[in-house]
Amino acid sequence: MKRKLFIFKRGNAGQIDPQLYPGIITMEPVLIVGAGIVGLTLGQALQKANIPFRIYERDASPDARGQGWAITLHWALEYIQQMLPEDTLRAIQEVQVDPQVAKNDNGNFLFIDLATGEPKFKIPPSTRWRVNREKMRQALLRGIEQHVSWNSQVVDVDVKSDSTAAPCLVLADGTRVSGRFVIGVEGSRSLVRRVLRPDAYSNSVLPIRFTGVAVDLSPQEIKPLRSMDPLLFQGCHPSTGVFFWFSMLETPDRNGTRGTPDEHYRAQICMSWPVKSGVDEVAATDAERLENMKRRSVGFVPFLRSVVEGIPKGTPVVEIKLADWECLDWDNCDGRITLAGDAAHAMTMYRGEAANHGLLDAFNLFQALKKVYSGEKGAKDALDEYEAEMRSRTRRAVRLSRQACHDAHAWEQLNEHSAILTKRAVTGEAERL
Ligand SMILES: Cc1cc2nc3c(=O)[nH]c(=O)nc-3n(C[C@H](O)[C@H](O)[C@H](O)COP(=O)(O)OP(=O)(O)OC[C@H]3O[C@@H](n4cnc5c(N)ncnc54)[C@H](O)[C@@H]3O)c2cc1C
Repeated sequence: MKRKLFIFKRGNAGQIDPQLYPGIITMEPVLIVGAGIVGLTLGQALQKANIPFRIYERDASPDARGQGWAITLHWALEYIQQMLPEDTLRAIQEVQVDPQVAKNDNGNFLFIDLATGEPKFKIPPSTRWRVNREKMRQALLRGIEQHVSWNSQVVDVDVKSDSTAAPCLVLADGTRVSGRFVIGVEGSRSLVRRVLRPDAYSNSVLPIRFTGVAVDLSPQEIKPLRSMDPLLFQGCHPSTGVFFWFSMLETPDRNGTRGTPDEHYRAQICMSWPVKSGVDEVAATDAERLENMKRRSVGFVPFLRSVVEGIPKGTPVVEIKLADWECLDWDNCDGRITLAGDAAHAMTMYRGEAANHGLLDAFNLFQALKKVYSGEKGAKDALDEYEAEMRSRTRRAVRLSRQACHDAHAWEQLNEHSAILTKRAVTGEAERL
């Protein structure tokens, strides 16, 4: 492949000196904080356009994390198809949790009455890829491995008031790196967000608690669950307001046990409930957390009750904190620093669209950066435009997801207009909640 050569002359602080080179298009890199799915997708898109970038990730290596959870890509598929190379897209398709279902997915979005197992709502199928999040991250690394610095936690960002000064990342080992842009995509507890909004960076915690486990189930054990929906379904118990969520993580085709004596599926079983008093808080130990899930499943239809009852002792029970952040305003320092993904808009997962919004951010930000690097637009205008669209779209999404979280625990109030059911649409703030 033919590579372009870029020649820079640096000033004292390691920045391009615009006085020395008026009119030059500076090819200083985009500095991306966080190698999650949004940061890596942006990196892939920049690579395709030959825009220099570097990704800094605090994890020690690509496989430093556990198995994680599965996510559904739906309305953002059309954007990732435009950003990613063919082989990366194929690699993502290959990490769908169930290759058989993926070939002919007739799945509905299903919400059931946990006391009876009867469907309350069924939303017709739409194109979806249900993928393992950690494996998708690995698929997204293909071809950009050399641009990612692992074990590189960013602890500060230095953005000087002089708008010609390059923004600089400070890593945990004291290293400083400067670039053309800083993009914070390091998740819902973003350091870059804290730098931009030191007065209001914290997520708002919802009065709902959530725990989940990953369990291995035999074909017989999983049969009643898969007959509801092969990939996922949700439900609420009418009298207790407990929410339950089943999701497939791995089929025997994926884990290689098909046809063996150990044939099994791996599934995620999650539950959440409103906090009314101290006893509803999540306990400190796995044993107490598991005991709580089992206690809260009393009254579930027998096939669901037995799945929760059957979770083996010693299974790790993970708490996911339900909290959100509404993409408040920030100063992008003359177009030198911004946010995307969960860092820009943390939302609960009850509408399953946070990653889809993050991927659309990556798409729009990529378009904006292309315009700056080609000289078509100034950095300030490009980032202002990117942020205005993102704010309008995701403030509404954050509020809808918060409402969906409340709806999921209030059976009596659930109807076809509830936020947990309404179409996941890419629209802006106009229709306020
Ligand atoms: C149970 C569950 C189910 C979900 N299901 C869906 C779904 O079905 N559909 C959907 O669209 N969304 C879903 N989501 C949301 C989705 O997982 C997130 O929106 C998405 O993973 C966010 O990606 P991200 O790249 O913005 O952030 P992250 O995935 O959080 O990645 C951030 C990265 O930054 C790194 N990092 C953090 N701090 C630093 C630092 N200081 N320096 C360097 N690196 C740092 C982290 O290690 C991490 O690798 C779900 C979430 C949960 C919890």
